[in-house]
Amino acid sequence: RAKEQGRNTYQFYTEGMQEREVMRLELDKDLSQALANNEFVLFYQPQLNLDTGEIQSVEALIRWRHPRRGLLPPVEFIPLAEESGRITDIGRWVVMAACRQLAAWKGTAQEGLRIAVNLSGRELDDEDLVDHIREALAAENVPADRLEVELTEEIFIQNIEHNLNQLSRLHQLGVHLAIDDFGVGYSSLGYLRDFPVDLLKIDRSFITEVTERHDDAVITRAVINLAHNLGIEVVAEGVETEEQLSFLKNHRCNFAQGYLISRPIPVSDLEKALASGVLVAGITADSGL
Ligand code: C2E
Ligand code: MG
Ligand code: MG
Ligand code: MG
Repeated sequence: RAKEQGRNTYQFYTEGMQEREVMRLELDKDLSQALANNEFVLFYQPQLNLDTGEIQSVEALIRWRHPRRGLLPPVEFIPLAEESGRITDIGRWVVMAACRQLAAWKGTAQEGLRIAVNLSGRELDDEDLVDHIREALAAENVPADRLEVELTEEIFIQNIEHNLNQLSRLHQLGVHLAIDDFGVGYSSLGYLRDFPVDLLKIDRSFITEVTERHDDAVITRAVINLAHNLGIEVVAEGVETEEQLSFLKNHRCNFAQGYLISRPIPVSDLEKALASGVLVAGITADSGL
């Protein structure tokens, strides 16, 4: 009986795995065409400066306009691209597209905006990454400090020496460095001393209940203080309520990002929203500072 059950369970998983494997292979094949077919697009999510009430940075978040499956979020293809190594070329496209966008904004109302791009640890392995970023900035004649790079704590766990070297070179270029999803990465705090970090992004999991849970509030306040004492600025991710925003303002968090301010949106929507002032208006009305 037990044996039979075991076998059924086994078969169940095997079939499921085979199906997933077929889907994965198909997706990987589509992914191999996606760059050539120009199917990737960057959405932008604004970051609100809590001191000035202005939007001074936007995070670029990749989407894939899949020919049959519609608009796919990164979770559907970035892990696969990391496994296959296609992430290197995708990352190059992201950096180039961000630089092109920054150049296109010259002389417009968006002139002062900074763009943050996400890089995975796998992309940092690429020896030519820094050269490529330098060339992309130069090709579009964009100052390096308009570009920010977001990395998660995974880069402090493996290949530390290599990663430190890469980030030092990037920082020397003038590119700003942000630690994404801060606080969930099982890494030591020592890297805040050794790596040239400009910005910490407190993970959404601490912000979601920051006004209801004492522990989340304590951790969030501690991270803000720790960062500020090290000369690092702080972004709160996943801000969805006015109460969270007030909390963050009261505790001197520098920036807020989340659905309350805006979801990630196409560039045309971003330009419209910035021009009409909607991103700032409702937010600064009752500033509670
Ligand atoms: P991330 O960099 O931590 O980005 C934040 C994610 O949280 C985004 O999901 C964003 O849409 C979502 N988000 C923002 N505000 C809120 C909020 O208030 N509530 C909730 N529930 N969610 C919010 P998205 O766009 O699906 O991206 C997921 C992850 O994919 C990113 O996490 C990043 O790690 C990765 N990613 C995105 N674009 C790229 C890229 O160009 N290259 C690489 N390597 N990874 C990327
Ligand atoms: Mg990010
Ligand atoms: Mg994040
Ligand atoms: Mg993340």
